[in-house]
Amino acid sequence: MAVAEAALKSLKERKITPSPENYAIWLAYHASNPEALRTEMDLMIAGKRPIDDHICDQLYITFFEDVAIGSRMMKAGGKIAAEMEDVRKGLLKAGVKTKAYGEQLAVAKRELEKTDSPLITKDLVESLVGATNEMATQSKHLETKLAESSVEIEALRVQLEQVRIEAATDSLTGLANRKEFDSRLVEMCAASDRGAGPMTVIMADIDFFKRINDTFGHQTGDQVIRFVATVMDRAKPKGGVVARLGGEEFAMIAPMTDRKTAAAIAEKVRQAVEGKRLVRRASNEDLGKITVSLGVAQRRPGEKPTDMVERADAALYNSKRTGRNKVSLEELVKVKAA
Ligand code: GH3
Ligand code: MG
Ligand code: MG
Repeated sequence: MAVAEAALKSLKERKITPSPENYAIWLAYHASNPEALRTEMDLMIAGKRPIDDHICDQLYITFFEDVAIGSRMMKAGGKIAAEMEDVRKGLLKAGVKTKAYGEQLAVAKRELEKTDSPLITKDLVESLVGATNEMATQSKHLETKLAESSVEIEALRVQLEQVRIEAATDSLTGLANRKEFDSRLVEMCAASDRGAGPMTVIMADIDFFKRINDTFGHQTGDQVIRFVATVMDRAKPKGGVVARLGGEEFAMIAPMTDRKTAAAIAEKVRQAVEGKRLVRRASNEDLGKITVSLGVAQRRPGEKPTDMVERADAALYNSKRTGRNKVSLEELVKVKAA
């Protein structure tokens, strides 16, 4: 009761819509379960970051949608296992029958060998015909069952694949989500260290996005997020990954790309966003100039993937601090250039 009351109180105090999802988040927060959610929210609170409806949406996707996806995967997996078990039982039964049939044939063979004149009796023939027919029926059954099972298993496989893709995708933009970004980053860092060539990370964040939201509303804000997502995605090099890390923040992993090439990609993104005039769909109002700030970091072989992202983030922060609507390279380059 105390936890439930605390959750309601938080919703009220923070003026958060009392939806079931938002209530679930604050319930989890006050129950410290999952612990990671508590930690993340405490960090936001300590950093005086407002935990508004949108942040709550993001938290819900991160901490609870996975549970739903997980249980759907378990269900599909369970169905496949049950289907396979059916097939196994069918095969076992068929195996027993085939063995009996084989034994019947062996008996018939011995009978024939016993008689001097190879006179085949009517009874013998009838018994063999009967057994053969039964085997044929059995095979037909098994064939039908196998065909049905493989259709069912294929359908479940497709379902599992869809759930897997959904679990890796950001629903607003269709880009990779943070979780997918994290795992692809680790993969691609390892490939780079094995000699696949230089790689870079480009971080991007929309400038004064709060103002867009406040002036035109969240729906228009979402439209702007999707626009920047498309620009980033189009700019990625071959084999690259673009993700929405949350809110109005994006990241690009660019394999086989050095910092100079990556800086050119980032600059192209910056110009494309700045150059496009967006209008509000509902009213045709001009949204004014939308800009992004970007940061670029090239991988240092062997470093932790998260360190690389931190350097790109620091470069992005540098762009913000020094006027926004610009591209900054990581510290290393600035030192070199000086
Ligand atoms: P800066 O130039 O320093 O980046 O300023 P900013 O206003 O862009 O930065 P800030 O991080 O303060 O604002 C981000 C805002 O984005 C706050 C939050 O309400 C909003 N937001 C987060 N997720 C979403 C979303 O999915 N859709 C919309 N429309 N807004 C979101
Ligand atoms: Mg911003
Ligand atoms: Mg931001």
